[in-house]
This record gives sequence, structure tokens and C-alpha cells, in this order.
Amino acid sequence: MRILLVEDEPKVASFIARGLKSESYTVDTASDGVEAEHLAITEPYDLVVLDIVLPGKDGLEVLRSIREKNLHTPVLLLSARGRVQDRVNGLDAGADDYLTKPFSFDELVARVRALLRRGRGDGAVVLTIGDLTLDPAKHRVTRGGFPVDLTPKEFGLLEYFMRNPDRVLTRTMIAEHVWDHHFDSGTNVIDVYVKHLRDKVNRNGDGEIIQTVRGVGYRMMPAP
Ligand code: CA
Repeated sequence: MRILLVEDEPKVASFIARGLKSESYTVDTASDGVEAEHLAITEPYDLVVLDIVLPGKDGLEVLRSIREKNLHTPVLLLSARGRVQDRVNGLDAGADDYLTKPFSFDELVARVRALLRRGRGDGAVVLTIGDLTLDPAKHRVTRGGFPVDLTPKEFGLLEYFMRNPDRVLTRTMIAEHVWDHHFDSGTNVIDVYVKHLRDKVNRNGDGEIIQTVRGVGYRMMPAP
């Protein structure tokens, strides 16, 4: 799950980005409206967290321009302004939710999760393939009933695989969904991560669950 975070206050941005990364989300950050608009339109995000008061172009303008391009990426607006009219303007401009600063990180994460669930159009909480389960809300993975301890990046990678069973995922697709836009796809980082992930997931399991598709990428075994 890849998120664009748009926030011009460096301290707030790094606090939120660190927190979201620790929840296994891939996070790109933008600190002005022009950059935010460009990224939101050109990169495949699952969610945009968008501050309203920004240099360059304000958050509402960015939001309108995303919606004018017919992009339906869920948008969570952030603003220090708590006035009812700002909330109404935000929702009218096409926002999916609105959070007033200061907010608790737990509330932000809960809303991010809810928007991502809604965006996928399902309420399914636990992903299951064979004897492997992944619970995005509780951040928990089990294989054959035993817990599997993954780093945030490994968790994000496994979640992307499990949401796309029996589908060949190229390294480019994996990079776009699990790594941020500074990722250098010329490296073998993805292969190294897949190897670590397999080592951990296969420890208690019943066979290989991620197949290598030679010269192309990887494929998660089909759902039952
Ligand atoms: Ca701001």
C-alpha cells in the first residue's frame, strides 16, 4: 500500500512518515502543492494524505485538480483549521475524510486503514492463502498457525503478493507498489527481500508459496 503524504512542516511530515512506514506503508512525501499534484497524477498511490495550507498551491486546489483528472484515489485532508466551512469545502472538493490538527497518530492510522479498506471495496480483514494468513489491521502474519515475524518492508511485500494471488508481478510492479519513487529498480533489492521473505514464511510452512517466474518476476501461489 503506497501513500503520498503532502505536508510542508518538516517535523510533522517526518513524524507522520516514520509512523506510517512502521505500519508497513510505503510513503512518498511532498512539501508543496505543485510537487504534490504532479506526484498524485503520475504515480500509482493507494491513498493521499493532504495538508490544506501549503506553499505553491493549496491542498484544496490540488484535490480539485486530481478529481478533474478523474482520479479516484482516496484523499484524507489534514488541516489546523477546525471550522465547519473548511470541512464542508474539503468534502465538496472531493475529499474522502478530514482530520483536524492536532490529531493523535492512532486516529490517523485508523482512518488511513478505513479509507484503504473502502478503496478496495471489501471489508475482508484477514487475507488467507493456504496455511498462510495476514491480518493488515493487527499487523500479524501466521504460517501453519505459527507467527511469522516480518520487518515493515517484508510485511508490505507479502501483503502485495497476497492481494494479487496467481498473478505474475514484475519487479517494476513490485517496486511501484512497495517502494517509494526514489527506488532504483536497477538493483537486486527486490530479489533480496523476496529471499528473506521466503526464508521466514517457509520456516513453518508446507512448501514454497512464492514462485519465481524466470526473467519476469514472481507469482504468489493461487488462493484455494
Ligand atoms: Ca501546512
